[in-house]
Amino acid sequence: MTAATQEKLEFQTEVKQLLNLMIHSLYSNKEIFLRELISNSSDAIDKARYESLTNVDVLGDDKTFRIRVSMDKDAKILRITDNGVGMTRQELIQNIGTIASSGTKKFMEKVTGDQKKDMSLIGQFGVGFYSVFMVADKVVLTTKRLGSDETAMRWESTGDGSYTLEAAEKNDRGTELEIHIKEDEKEFLEEYRVRSIIRKYSEYITHPIILMAKEDDKEEGKDKDAKAAKEEVLNGKPPIWRRSKNDITKDQYEEFFKHLTFDQEAPLAWSHNQVEGAMEYTTLLYVPGKAPYDLYQPEKQNGLNLYVKRVFIMNDCKELVPSYLRFVRGIVDSEDLPLNVSREILQKNAVIQKINKASAKKVLQLLETMAKEDKDKYRAFWKEFGNVMKEGFHMNWENLDELKRLVRFESSKTKAEDYVGLEEYVPRMQSGQKDIYFITGENRQAVEHSPHLEVFKSKDIEVLFLIDPIDEWVMQTLTEFDGKKLVNVTKGDLDLGDLSKDEKKTQKEAQSKYKTFMKDFEEKSGDFLKEVRVTSRLKESPCCLVADEQDMGANMERILKMANQKVTASKRILEINPDHAITQSLLRMYENDAANPKLKDWYLLLVDQALLAEGSEIKDPAGYVAKVNSFLTEVLAKG
Ligand code: ADP
Repeated sequence: MTAATQEKLEFQTEVKQLLNLMIHSLYSNKEIFLRELISNSSDAIDKARYESLTNVDVLGDDKTFRIRVSMDKDAKILRITDNGVGMTRQELIQNIGTIASSGTKKFMEKVTGDQKKDMSLIGQFGVGFYSVFMVADKVVLTTKRLGSDETAMRWESTGDGSYTLEAAEKNDRGTELEIHIKEDEKEFLEEYRVRSIIRKYSEYITHPIILMAKEDDKEEGKDKDAKAAKEEVLNGKPPIWRRSKNDITKDQYEEFFKHLTFDQEAPLAWSHNQVEGAMEYTTLLYVPGKAPYDLYQPEKQNGLNLYVKRVFIMNDCKELVPSYLRFVRGIVDSEDLPLNVSREILQKNAVIQKINKASAKKVLQLLETMAKEDKDKYRAFWKEFGNVMKEGFHMNWENLDELKRLVRFESSKTKAEDYVGLEEYVPRMQSGQKDIYFITGENRQAVEHSPHLEVFKSKDIEVLFLIDPIDEWVMQTLTEFDGKKLVNVTKGDLDLGDLSKDEKKTQKEAQSKYKTFMKDFEEKSGDFLKEVRVTSRLKESPCCLVADEQDMGANMERILKMANQKVTASKRILEINPDHAITQSLLRMYENDAANPKLKDWYLLLVDQALLAEGSEIKDPAGYVAKVNSFLTEVLAKG
C-alpha cells in the first residue's frame, strides 16, 4: 500500500450540533449507544446477506455472519466488529459525516434546544451512530466495502467539528469500531455491564453477537493479557415470534415492541398468530399507544418488517397491511416467499395479498376485543388513530361491517373527546325514532350550538357530531347501520316520524299562513335561496339553512374551499320557525305593507345570521354590521 495521506473533513452543520449535544449530554441512559451500534452492525449484515443472495461468491470464505464485541481495559477501548457490508469512502462520507439517515433526521427535526426535552428525544429516536460520543472521547472506524476493490478506509474523530480519513490496512469486509471510552464512563469496559446491556437490548438481533470474555475477569495479575479470551454468544434464542405463545410473557412482548420501534411506551395490544396449512407464516402485530409524527404522510408509513424463514428481508413493508392500518407495527415471517423477494414483486404477490387480508382481520378483531373489554383503552386508541381508521371506509369494502362497529364519534350526549359507537347509539334511541342522526361541522362548539339541533335537544334525541374533515367522506359509505339510515340533520326535509306528529300538524297550518310571505322572502333575497319553507326543527332560532338531500352541504363546501378546490355552491333552502317572535312580526310587517323597503333588509339579515350560525362565511360582513347597527340604533332610540 502506498503511504497513506490523511484528509481532514468538516462535519455538516447539523452533525456538529448533534455531536455537541451528545458530548455535553446529561442523558442518564447512555447505555443505549451500544444498542445503536449493534443495530447498525446488524443492518450492515442484513445488507451483506441480501447482496450475496444473487452472488454468494462475494462473501469469499467468510460466510458466517457475526458481530464481535471486546474490551481492552488498559487501553480503555471497546471494540465492535462486524462482517457486514462495510462502506466505501464515498459512503462513509455520506453516512457518517452528514445526516442522511432517517432516524437521526427525524431526531434533528424534533430537537428544540431545550436540554431536558431533547434528552428525552435521544431515548425515543436513538440518534444512531453519533450517540457513541456520549461515552467516547475518540472513535476510530475502519471499514471495507463488500464486493468493492477500493482499499479500506479509516475514519477518526473526537467528536469536535471535524474528522479525518485515510486509507487503512484491512482485507476482510465489514466495519470495526474502536471506541475510546471517556474516563468517567469506564463502566462500559466492564464485561458484566456490557453483557447485560446487550442482553437487554439486542436479544432480538438475528445475527450472533459474540462477547470476547476473559476467562476470569476479576483476577488481576501480570499475565492478565495472556489469558485466553472465550467466545460467549449473547443472543441466539429463536426470535420471539417463533416461540410458542405460552412461553412468552407480557413483558417479553412489550420489550420486543420497544426493540422494534424505539417507542418508550408499551403497546396498547398485540396479536400473535402462527398460521399453518396451505400457507405458513407468523405475524406479530402491535397496536402502539402513540401515533408517530408522520402518520398522515402515507408515503412515509412505517408498516411491518418482513422476514422470510426467519431471515430479515426489509422493514417498513407497506404491502403487508392496508394503508388505513398503517399505524400497526410488528413483523411478518413467511415460509412461502423466496429469499430474494424485492419490493416490486411484493406489490403483486399472492402470498403477500393473503397475509395482508388476514392481518387486517386480526387487527380489527383485536380492536373489537379492546373496545368491548376496555373502553378507556379503546378511547385512547381512537383518539390517536381514529382518523386513520376512518380512511378504511373509503378503501375497504371488505371489512365494512367491522369498521362500522369500530367507528366512534362525539355526540350531543358525550363530553368532548369522549365517543359513542353505533352499537351503543342504537339502544339509546328514543322510542319511535327510526333513524340515526348526525351533524357535520368544523368543531364541537360550532355544531353543539347549531340551530339544527334544537328539536333534537327538545326531544332528547342523540345526534352524532362529525367534526373531522374526513367524516364527510366516511358518510358517503356509512349510510346504514343495523337497518337504520344515517341522516344528516342539516340536509333535506326533517321527518321525525311519530315523534313529531303534533308539530307536523301545526307546520301544515303555518305553511299556508306564511305562503305569500315566503314567496316574497325568496324573491327579495336574490338567487341565493332556492326555497323558503316552514320547519319543525327549530325551537329557539327564527330560521336556519339546510341543503337538499343530494346537494353538497355547507361543511363540505367549507372543507373543499380550504383545500383550495373550486366549488360551485348549490342554492340553499331557508327554513323558518313559524312560532318565533321575529318571524311572526315580520309576517305582520309584510301583511301591513308588502312594499315596505325594510322587509328586504330584514330578510337579508336573517339569511346572514343563518349563515353565521352554521359556521359559513357571509358575503358582505361590513354590510351586515351596518344593518345590525341601524336596527340597534332604532331600538335604542326607543329607550
Ligand atoms: P441509522 O442507523 O438511523 O441509519 P446512524 O447514524 O446510526 O443512523 O448510521 C448512519 C449510516 O451509517 C447507516 O444508515 C449506515 O448506512 C451507515 N453505517 C453505520 N454503521 C455501519 C456499519 N457498522 N456498517 C456499515 N454501515 C454502517
